[in-house]
Amino acid sequence: MTHPVIIAGGGIGGLATAIGLANKGIASLVLEKAPQLGEIGAGIQLGPNAFHAFDYLGVGEAARSIAVYIDSLRLMDALSGDEITRIPLDDAFRAHFRNPYAVIHRGDLHGIFLKACADHPLVSLRTSSEVVAYDQDGETVTAILKSGERLTGRLLVGADGLWSNIRQQLVGDGAPRVSGHTTYRSVIPTEDMPEDLRWNAATLWAGPKCHIVHYPLKGWKVFNLVVTYHNDAPSPEAGVPVSHDEVRKGFEHVNPVARQIIDRGRDWKRWVLCDRDPVQNWIDGRVVLLGDAAHPMMQYFAQGACMAMEDAVALSAMLERHGEDPGTALGAYQDLRRLRTARVQLQSREIGQHVYHPAGAHADLRNAVMRAKSPADWYQAVGWLYGSTGLEGAVSPETVRPRGLAA
Ligand SMILES: Cc1cc2nc3c(=O)[nH]c(=O)nc-3n(C[C@H](O)[C@H](O)[C@H](O)COP(=O)(O)OP(=O)(O)OC[C@H]3O[C@@H](n4cnc5c(N)ncnc54)[C@H](O)[C@@H]3O)c2cc1C
Repeated sequence: MTHPVIIAGGGIGGLATAIGLANKGIASLVLEKAPQLGEIGAGIQLGPNAFHAFDYLGVGEAARSIAVYIDSLRLMDALSGDEITRIPLDDAFRAHFRNPYAVIHRGDLHGIFLKACADHPLVSLRTSSEVVAYDQDGETVTAILKSGERLTGRLLVGADGLWSNIRQQLVGDGAPRVSGHTTYRSVIPTEDMPEDLRWNAATLWAGPKCHIVHYPLKGWKVFNLVVTYHNDAPSPEAGVPVSHDEVRKGFEHVNPVARQIIDRGRDWKRWVLCDRDPVQNWIDGRVVLLGDAAHPMMQYFAQGACMAMEDAVALSAMLERHGEDPGTALGAYQDLRRLRTARVQLQSREIGQHVYHPAGAHADLRNAVMRAKSPADWYQAVGWLYGSTGLEGAVSPETVRPRGLAA
């Protein structure tokens, strides 16, 4: 009997991998530590590269049917209240990148993959199953669960997120880097959003050591608010309920128009942001890392989940191509993904420093540089990211071209 590929983690990356493998005829067993499979109730932005991945994974229609198609990415100056620039996400953008830019509720996105996995006979899902370690003998790999149970697979994919146990054994680089930036999230009914700010845009107000993001979700029923400031938080946290005053404290210096967004938020929750430096190796024999376990990043490029889905595409394409030789398949996957994801990891930090959070002359320079860019300049700047599937040049286009992409 052929053993399944074991996937540790049933987040967006793990489930996208399971469906990617199933589409290639490869069985998998997803082990999720939580008692239920799900996502937090906030939003997520999806670059065109996410849609390339959706199409490849066979969920393009489902994703398109529930995404909110925003008109632009708006960058505002949080001190003056002025618009700095607006990148239109119009037909020209879609034609250029062959897919849209959109926003979606995380639960809906996760639900698309969960349904596809639950409906597929080659995917098995198990909850309350934390993988704490692995063992391997050259022919198979054994996932060792917290309960002591041992499960055998042909491969083990560590899609177990920022605090990955698989990474701890494989890379052993300790705890993630705590950035000192803290993000607060809230989702509010659209009628609670200030009327003059109900824009069909992913809007970002950039201020000294802080920024505010908002966009509509769920067919415009709610607005997603994500606000960040530097508070030198010393230790990592995720989803801790906090008072309104704590959130307000980081935005006392911004324009009242931007500040009113903070006042409209409710049930704020706190995340202390972490990332890691890129590493050179994600592979140990029959074990490989994927998504945040491989390349956790700040969210400033809005690409962590997009990269996890691209990883799923690349891993399933390489396992199909080199199925009889897992070592070659995993090596080819890592070759495809390592530098692209490292670039996003490092640039995400830089965007925070040079675009979202500067002050004084640095901010004036940002405004001047951003204002001088035409849509064509933007297309060129993000072409490497949005225009790519991350697979080009690696294998024959016929084998891996996503269905939504023209030649
Ligand atoms: C504030 C914020 C905003 C963001 N905005 C965006 C955005 O707009 N666009 C975007 O693309 N990305 C965004 N991201 C990044 C994105 O959320 C992550 O990159 C993405 O969720 C990573 O998916 P993953 O499946 O690799 O990991 P995770 O989502 O962390 O999933 C890991 C899963 O594994 C489970 N697990 C953990 N350990 C184990 C174990 N040992 N055994 C079994 N199961 C385990 C967890 O319970 C979880 O279900 C944002 C992140 C933050 C913090």
